[in-house]
Amino acid sequence: MISIIGAGPVGCYLAYLLAKSGEKVSVFEEHSEIGKPVQCTGIVTSAITELIKPDKKFVINTIKRFKVFSPDENFIEFKLENPNLILDRTKFDKYLARLATKAGAKFYLKKKFVDYKEPYVILDKEISKKTDILVGADGPQSKVAKATGLYGKRKFVIGLQARIKTKLRDKNAVEFYLNKHYFGWLVPESKSIARVGIVAKYNIHPHFKEFMRMIKKKHSYKTICYQSGLIPVYDSLLKTSKNNVYLVGDAACQVKPTSYGGIIQGMMAARELSKAILENKNYEFLWKKSIGKDLTYGSLIRRMMDNFSNEDYNELLKVVNKRHIKKIIEKEDRDFPSKIIFKVLTKEPGLIKFARKII
Ligand SMILES: Cc1cc2nc3c(=O)[nH]c(=O)nc-3n(C[C@H](O)[C@H](O)[C@H](O)COP(=O)(O)OP(=O)(O)OC[C@H]3O[C@@H](n4cnc5c(N)ncnc54)[C@H](O)[C@@H]3O)c2cc1C
Repeated sequence: MISIIGAGPVGCYLAYLLAKSGEKVSVFEEHSEIGKPVQCTGIVTSAITELIKPDKKFVINTIKRFKVFSPDENFIEFKLENPNLILDRTKFDKYLARLATKAGAKFYLKKKFVDYKEPYVILDKEISKKTDILVGADGPQSKVAKATGLYGKRKFVIGLQARIKTKLRDKNAVEFYLNKHYFGWLVPESKSIARVGIVAKYNIHPHFKEFMRMIKKKHSYKTICYQSGLIPVYDSLLKTSKNNVYLVGDAACQVKPTSYGGIIQGMMAARELSKAILENKNYEFLWKKSIGKDLTYGSLIRRMMDNFSNEDYNELLKVVNKRHIKKIIEKEDRDFPSKIIFKVLTKEPGLIKFARKII
């Protein structure tokens, strides 16, 4: 028996992969409905297609262009060779749960994990279930990690976004905003609805207010609702397994340090975890081989960005705004910075001075 705690995209995807290979899988989710509450913008690169076939049931928009704004409000527009997809997160999580159920996994809702007394998973109301393997796919503040001594000294940033009603000229274009205090975005769901928000380490509310004031100057809007959540910071030293216990997805801090997306990275790690369980292989080795290099490059880029001033961002945009550099960024997938960094640095040595900010 394999017990997975958490029916987010990563737990559901892992349940599907294991159940379709004949494993007995139970998924325990604390909420009464899968996919709710939503705490995500739902933008993914085309790398998602390597993991799951996109379906109209959960893809609500396609992104063909993205604009990157510097603090002085200059911008560069990139045309994506491979479109990004916008997911309806509730429908996406439910779709993956349905695949897992059809493959034989059992889902238990309103079942909160509280402790692990090997070989028993302890749920609230003192329910206990015997298990051979325990997987924590239970998000950034993983209770499984806490109960099994795998929590480490993890750090977080905060994501805060508004769903707004507005009028967009181009529903297929995303806007990204670079700023020394935050990373911001405007992601269209349709011509009239967008997800607009920021990730910041500190003072999220004043930065969010300032950001929304700036957005209002460009797009008049009405707020539909707010969504927020913690995002774990990738830490290459964090242990993600111990005996028969494994962490995956946000629970294992497998999140891009650059833009803080974690859907693809978590699902890729779930694929490696299913291999590790099915073929009795080393999980840490497998997931680090699959996504570790790009997460480490991402951490270096993040360290550089954390030392940037707004003037640095303004200057960076001017240096990047060259045809040969834009072409590389338009072609390569930003989920895999290792494919971009060296190409860009060799074509534009002027960028090396920014890399010095890493130190
Ligand atoms: C504002 C914001 C915007 C984001 N935008 C993007 C984006 O555009 N693209 C992207 O790729 N990523 C984005 N992310 C990150 C993305 O949401 C996560 O990386 C992703 O949801 C991780 O999936 P997961 O399944 O590992 O964890 P989660 O989605 O957090 O799922 C964990 C599940 O475990 C359940 N759970 C928790 N504790 C327990 C317990 N004790 N017992 C039982 N169940 C439990 C929870 O209820 C939840 O269902 C964003 C995050 C935030 C906060």
